[in-house]
Amino acid sequence: MERNRLIALLRRFFGTGHGGPALDENEVRVAQSVALVRQMPMIIIGNGIGSTIGYLFLGASKVSHDLTPLGLGIWLLLLPMLISWFRLRGRAVPQRVSKRRIRRITVYSGVLGTAWAALELWYLPTVPFSVAAFLMASCGFLAVSAVTTIFVMPWACIAYATPMMGAAIYISARSEDPVAGPFIGLLLLMSFGIFWFLAVNWRNFLTMLELSAEKSRLLVQLASDLQMQKELVEAKDEATAALRKANLALKALAQTDLLTNLPNRRGFEQTLRREWLRMQATGYTLSLLMVDADHFKAINDRHGHKKGDECLRIIAAALEASVRAGDTVSRYGGEEFAVILPGLAGSDAFKVAERMRSTVESSGAGFGLTISIGIATCHTSNALTTSELMEQADDALFRAKQGGRNQLVLAAASVEGKR
Ligand code: GH3
Ligand code: MG
Ligand code: MG
Repeated sequence: MERNRLIALLRRFFGTGHGGPALDENEVRVAQSVALVRQMPMIIIGNGIGSTIGYLFLGASKVSHDLTPLGLGIWLLLLPMLISWFRLRGRAVPQRVSKRRIRRITVYSGVLGTAWAALELWYLPTVPFSVAAFLMASCGFLAVSAVTTIFVMPWACIAYATPMMGAAIYISARSEDPVAGPFIGLLLLMSFGIFWFLAVNWRNFLTMLELSAEKSRLLVQLASDLQMQKELVEAKDEATAALRKANLALKALAQTDLLTNLPNRRGFEQTLRREWLRMQATGYTLSLLMVDADHFKAINDRHGHKKGDECLRIIAAALEASVRAGDTVSRYGGEEFAVILPGLAGSDAFKVAERMRSTVESSGAGFGLTISIGIATCHTSNALTTSELMEQADDALFRAKQGGRNQLVLAAASVEGKR
């Protein structure tokens, strides 16, 4: 009979387990695999102890044949089961047990049961019935114990128990001993007990299967939920990183002048504030140059705005070429630039400014390009604020323009400070 039909039939007789969703074949086999791994050691121990005690008892009685080959045979038969158990145990549970394995286990159980039956048939008729009855009852208990352990596979259980019980009943029926009759009754009772136990436990088995199936369903669901959660977290992390990168780029862009690629006024103000705070903390001097292109309107008018832009780039390059790594050249706006020189006092700032002026004069000669520069310095002793510093630099620039342009003026208050 097909397993599913058998399940349906048994359900009708014994109820439907815990009433969960119907099981499919896969789930049944997953549960069998789990149950098998748990119960195999008991089967092995039961048979092993049974054969060893039986062998020792009969060996000691020295009544008839040498039982060594059969005793060893039972143990040899247990060996593949032991190997199979180790293999199944190594696998991730729950995993479904294959149909082939179930068939093999059923055949194997039949062979094991037949081996016990052969042992009975071969040996027991030669010993007094009292000894035989004792051994047959032991075989019966082995069969019953098999039922309690392998009811997850009823066919395997039946294949194991039937030859053992059959042989015992056959031997008793052929004996003329007066106890044989009642003993047959006992054996029949045992056989009935086995099948009754199988039937009753089938309901437990169904419940166990359903619970186990539900557990694996939940596990699968949980695994997929966790995976989804992990993917969401990863996607969020990626998006956050991209956003952070975009923000940084945006911030840099917001502080950059696109024509000259220098920091724009916003960038300049931030840097000036930072350097001013550093000056306060360290006591070093801070110089500021305000640079303005001379008669730039006229240059634009004469050469056009495109060339005018080129002139602005010439000035930017000249200013950049004249400063050290820690200095900052910014485009303040229009044709005006601002240069922050941390750690430079008035006279040194003046030298840098002169380098700028002459570089622009030579590199912009084609356009008659020149610049005027106002220089202001602050240090802890003149204690200028940033806006006072800028005012002074602007005043100095104004005077440079008034003085005839293409020149530098150092603000009066910018006396030498600590370097
Ligand atoms: P001064 O020597 O007194 O500074 O004279 P000036 O002509 O340079 O000063 P003014 O403020 O009169 O003119 C500034 C000119 O700079 C006007 C404006 O067209 C030009 N300018 C400002 N920004 C740009 C720009 O981005 N590109 C170009 N090509 N010209 C600009
Ligand atoms: Mg100007
Ligand atoms: Mg100008």
